[in-house]
Amino acid sequence: MGRRVCRAVTYGATQCPGHPYGGAVATAFVKTLRDLLSDGAVIDDPPVVAEHAFDASRTTAPVAAVLVRPRSTREVSAVLRAANDAGVPVVPQGARSGLVGAAAAIDGAVLLDLGALDRIVRIDPVDRIAVVQPGVVVADLQRAAAAVGLFYPPDPASAEWASIGGTIATNAGGMRCVKYGVTRDAVRSLEAVLADGEIVRTRAETVKGVAGLDLTSLFVGSEGTLGVITEATLALRPAPGPSRGVSAIFRDAASAFAAANVIASGSRLPSTLEFLDEVALRGIRLVRPELGIPDSAQAWLLAVTDEVIGSAEDLDGFEAAFLAHGAQAATRADDPEQLDHLFAARRALSPALVAVRGGATHGDLAVPRSQLPVLADAVVELRLRLGVEISLAGHVGDGNLHPTVVFDPGDADETARAREAEHELLVLAQRLGGTVAGEHGIGSVKLHAVDGEVPPRIRELQRAVKSVFDPRGILNPGRKL
Ligand SMILES: Cc1cc2nc3c(=O)[nH]c(=O)nc-3n(C[C@H](O)[C@H](O)[C@H](O)COP(=O)(O)OP(=O)(O)OC[C@H]3O[C@@H](n4cnc5c(N)ncnc54)[C@H](O)[C@@H]3O)c2cc1C
Repeated sequence: MGRRVCRAVTYGATQCPGHPYGGAVATAFVKTLRDLLSDGAVIDDPPVVAEHAFDASRTTAPVAAVLVRPRSTREVSAVLRAANDAGVPVVPQGARSGLVGAAAAIDGAVLLDLGALDRIVRIDPVDRIAVVQPGVVVADLQRAAAAVGLFYPPDPASAEWASIGGTIATNAGGMRCVKYGVTRDAVRSLEAVLADGEIVRTRAETVKGVAGLDLTSLFVGSEGTLGVITEATLALRPAPGPSRGVSAIFRDAASAFAAANVIASGSRLPSTLEFLDEVALRGIRLVRPELGIPDSAQAWLLAVTDEVIGSAEDLDGFEAAFLAHGAQAATRADDPEQLDHLFAARRALSPALVAVRGGATHGDLAVPRSQLPVLADAVVELRLRLGVEISLAGHVGDGNLHPTVVFDPGDADETARAREAEHELLVLAQRLGGTVAGEHGIGSVKLHAVDGEVPPRIRELQRAVKSVFDPRGILNPGRKL
């Protein structure tokens, strides 16, 4: 078979330069990889490769050529050098829990599964750092840090399976960002393999360090387009106190937003501040009736503190803010077990939204916190105009909500209106000075919306940076930028 046009791979405005990865070339390339890597590291059995073609977005994936599971940085380097020489695209993969298609297959690509690089190399309590390989599961690092009295703050809801490499490459968030920031804030230094196979380290492991440009930050959130992360030095913190919290229900969303704003703007930050709206609560009543959420509840907030000193005062403050803004009822959890019960409603969110009408889109917007009430009003207008139901739940403490359009997938007209609403929500976030991608990334799913947010000159600079790192455009082409 001759050369095929790289139909799935567009890089920027231009088609990527005809990657020669069809038929015979792919077979020869797989043999090259087998010669370079340890036994069993190269898998071209089509059903196994196909199984690895998706991430959690389940976007339709083309057919990858081969799945590779390197066992060392050197092997990652060998794969990239060979792929670069052959012009074969490479898709780095962590746990494939991503929600935007960033780790899904590209036609004829190498799926580079980093899962076997899963060692916690060291945890250093003096320098308060962890040095880890990319395949380490986030929750495993959290537990290893806790075992020596330390704390790794990044905590996406997928922590039990998402990888350190994937969470760095997406700059993952989660529920603790209101106090501890996003994954970027925990990344000190990275070892990465560049497209041509060269192994580099971005900076020293010191807290302070301003030599040269900050390429560590550039790798964070780059979705595998600039290099493959093979080791990360991560900043740890002293262990926090036990988590305690207060939840409350409100008669309207505006009162809940006002209460949340008072708490998030206060001098003592909660470690978590979450919001559920009326649509979400309706779904939760369906899937978790035993939680007893009353029909009158139109909004719900949960504020958590993990302070070692003063946590009782924090709880008093949260409760006072809730009641001052008309909360119907506030429930206090004085220890982590009780708090777990308060979290139950928030944890039920995804199945609850599906339960409302059978189908649910996936949203991840961020706006300046001051714009949340404006966003909420605009969503009401959108609901009425398009005749769809939209839930607006999420991380109210940092302005990152997950607006979800719920719809009947069996109704073509309603499904079309849901998709239109999904698109309008992206435009709305941008109009309010926000972003279409709070924490889940751009991948391929949201690529169409980037022009609405990133000015043309900045887009141009970003593509120029990409071409310096990856002149042949082999690293996750068609994603992120
Ligand atoms: C139920 C559920 C809950 C979730 N909750 C949250 C949440 O609360 N907050 C949040 O932010 N996200 C959340 N996510 C999304 C997802 O878990 C995150 O995006 C996560 O960071 C992806 O990690 P991963 O290891 O699965 O990476 P993958 O999905 O495998 O890859 C994601 C991106 O990283 C790149 N990549 C992976 N490893 C490397 C590497 N070593 N070097 C270079 N690039 C690499 C891939 O190419 C891809 O671009 C959730 C997902 C699910 C399914």
